[in-house]
Amino acid sequence: MPLRLFNTLTGQIDQLAPSDGKAFRIYACGPTVYDYGHIGNFRTFLQIDVLRRCLKLMGVPIRHVMNITDVDDKIIRNASAAGQSIAEYSGRFVDAFFEDIAALRIERPEQIARATEHIPKMVDLVQRLAEVGAAYKTEEGSWYFRLSAFPEYGKLSKKDLSGIEDGARIDVDEYEKDSARDFALWKAAKPGETSWDTPIGRGRPGWHIECSAMSMEYLGDSFDLHAGGEDLMFPHHENEIAQSESVTHKPLALHWMHVRFLLVEGRKMSKSEGNFYTLRDLLLRGYKASAIRLALISVPYRHQLNFTFEGLTEATNAIERLRNFHERLLKGTFPAGENPEIHRLAAQAQAEYFEALSNDLNTAEARAPIFDMIRSANTAIDQGRFFAADRDSILGVLASFDAVFDVLQNHDDEPTRRALEWAEKAGRLDDVAPELLARQCVSDEAIDALVAERALAKKHRNFARADQIRQELAEKGVILEDSKDGVRWKRK
Ligand code: AMP
Ligand code: ZN
Repeated sequence: MPLRLFNTLTGQIDQLAPSDGKAFRIYACGPTVYDYGHIGNFRTFLQIDVLRRCLKLMGVPIRHVMNITDVDDKIIRNASAAGQSIAEYSGRFVDAFFEDIAALRIERPEQIARATEHIPKMVDLVQRLAEVGAAYKTEEGSWYFRLSAFPEYGKLSKKDLSGIEDGARIDVDEYEKDSARDFALWKAAKPGETSWDTPIGRGRPGWHIECSAMSMEYLGDSFDLHAGGEDLMFPHHENEIAQSESVTHKPLALHWMHVRFLLVEGRKMSKSEGNFYTLRDLLLRGYKASAIRLALISVPYRHQLNFTFEGLTEATNAIERLRNFHERLLKGTFPAGENPEIHRLAAQAQAEYFEALSNDLNTAEARAPIFDMIRSANTAIDQGRFFAADRDSILGVLASFDAVFDVLQNHDDEPTRRALEWAEKAGRLDDVAPELLARQCVSDEAIDALVAERALAKKHRNFARADQIRQELAEKGVILEDSKDGVRWKRK
C-alpha cells in the first residue's frame, strides 16, 4: 500500500515513491546542539521516525540524512559565555542528543552530517552562487544571498514577497516572518569567534547554507523528501530552496513534510512560562521512555499535540495493557484448534492499521484498531473462544504495530538509569521524583532476596512478615504477582 503524505510544496496529499526507482531519499533538519533536546524537538524527530518506519514496513528502501548544526549564533553565544570552544561546548550536547534518541528508540538515520565537517562544501556553494549572480560580498567580508535573483522565493511557505525592499539585509540566523531579506550565507570573522580561513574569506557559515550543501552532497541535486518542524518552513527551508535551486535549476526536494508544533497544557512551551520540558526532565519525574514515545507519536504530525501529564499517564497505561496482553499470548496455553472469528479480527485490525498509516501517517487512527483487537482477543481468551492456532495471527498484527510504534518490549530501565546517572553528575538530583529514587535504590538481587524471604515467611505461616515485605517492595515500586508457578515480580 503506497504511503500518501501531505506535501507543503504542492499543498496536497501526494504519494511517496523513490524517484530514482531505488531508495527513498530523505533529508531531515537535525538538532542545533546548544542545549538538551526538549519534547517539542523530539516530537518532530519521532514523527520523522514514524515516517521512516512506515516506509520500511511497506517495503520501501530508504536513505535518510540528518544534519547536526554545530555552529550558529546561539552556539557561539553560549560557548563564549561558558568560556569554551564551540566544539567543546556543543560536543556534550551531541552526545546527549544521541543518548536521548536512543532512549526514545528513534532510529538513526543512515547518514549524520555535522556542519563543521562540511565547511568546504558550503564555501563551494557560495562560490557557485556568486558565479550565477545570486550571492554578493559586503565590505566587511560577509556574503549574502540576493533575494531578487530568485523570483520563486516564497513558493514553499506561499508568502507574498512583493513588498520587500531590494537589497535590505538580515544577518541573524533566525528571523520573523515579515522580514524576508537578503540573508547571510557566510559571516565575516568577528574577534573571539570561531572562524575558518577559506577562498571566500575568513568567517563562518550562516545557518541555512549547511543544509543545502550537505543535502546535495549526500542525496544529489534533487531528492525525495525534506522534513522538519513547522517553524523551519520559513525562512530556513525557503532559503535552502533558493540557495540550491539557483545553481541546480532542479527542485531541491519533491516533497516537503512539516511537523506541527507541540503545546504544553494548551500553551506555547517556554522556559519563562515554567512549562518547558526536556526528555531528561520527564525521565527524572519517573515517566518511562516508552510512554513518552507513545504520547509524542499518538497525535498525527499535522495536528497540534497538546502535551499533558494526563496524556503521559494514559500512554503509560496503554503500554501496560499492550505488554500484559502480549505476555498473556506468549505464556498462555490455549486449547488446540482455531477460531475463524479471531483470524477475521486480526485481518481487520491489520488492514485498518495499514490504511490509517498510509493516509498521511494517521497514528491516532492506526492505534485504535490495535487496542480494539486487544480488547476483543482478551474477551475471547476469557470466554474460552481463543485457540492455539489463533495466536500467530494476533502476534503478527502486534509485530506490524510494533514495527512503527516500538513500545512492546520493555527497554525502559536503561534510559531511566542513565538519566539518574546524569542527574547525579549534573547536580539535578533534587529534580528526581522520590518514588523513582526509592525504586532505583533496590537492586534485582535485593528484590529476589526479599521475595525468597517472603516465601519462607509464608511457609512458616508468618503472614505478618510476608505482608510487611510486600508493602516494603510496593513502596519501592515493585509489584508481586502470586501464581501457581511461584511469585513473579515486576517494577511499576
Ligand atoms: P532545533 O534544535 O531548534 O534546530 O530544532 C530541532 C527540530 O525541532 C526542528 O525540526 C524544529 O522545527 C523542531 N521543533 C522545535 N520546537 C518544536 C516544538 N515546540 N514542537 C515541535 N517541533 C519543534
Ligand atoms: Zn536544515
